Amino acid sequence: MNGNEFYYKERYKRNIIIESIGLEKQQKLLEKKVLIAGAGGLGSGVIAGLVSAGVGTIGIIDSDKVELSNLNRQFIHRESSIRSLKVESAFEWIKNYSPKTSVNIHKTRINDDSDAAFFREYDLIIDCFDSYRSKFTLNKICMKKGLALIHGGVKEFYGQVLTIVPEKSSCLDCMFENPEFDTEKTIGIISPAVNVISSIQAMEGVKFLLGMEDLLIDTLLAYDGIKQEFRKISLKRRKDCISCGGF
Ligand SMILES: [Zn+2]
Repeated sequence: MNGNEFYYKERYKRNIIIESIGLEKQQKLLEKKVLIAGAGGLGSGVIAGLVSAGVGTIGIIDSDKVELSNLNRQFIHRESSIRSLKVESAFEWIKNYSPKTSVNIHKTRINDDSDAAFFREYDLIIDCFDSYRSKFTLNKICMKKGLALIHGGVKEFYGQVLTIVPEKSSCLDCMFENPEFDTEKTIGIISPAVNVISSIQAMEGVKFLLGMEDLLIDTLLAYDGIKQEFRKISLKRRKDCISCGGF
């Protein structure tokens, strides 16, 4: 056993002893590439979840800089990173925690006309954007490129997760026919709600990458942090959906 092999077996020992994972699937995880769209609150939790689980390559899209008001929830950034780019601060967090993880940073903002060619390098996209306009844009790009997407959203004490597999399941545009975007309003978010939702997104991500079943496909998981309740809401794919209806 060489040094590298010893390192991986030791670092991911507690994953490897899970019967449904084992060494083979752990190695599979190390070969996977996941693109995390947004390095804010959800992004912090998803990055931490996937890097620690042993996903080999993490890509991060974000064009914002760290602000003091982000630090009630975006735990991968520090006060000393204020005014630095979030992608750079996230890169630093990952490299300190897990130096062997490969990290690609994409300092860009996507819009409906984005070519987003680099998306194709990835096995899975995770929606950690904070604005609904960006979430719908991301949904459109992923459906067009046939890429799986794990949606997550949080507001105050509440949140939701949906796993979208193109050609198989309903997407964000199937759920909301004519979404209205209120981009001016800043919404309140309490960090434990973000951590619950980002952990569920990371869990879905690991299961998807390992080819496991029982994903949140056609099922919106809604979390109520006040009542401490989870609800599953069944969704149906719309044939006339503007994003996934063409398949
Ligand atoms: Zn759709």
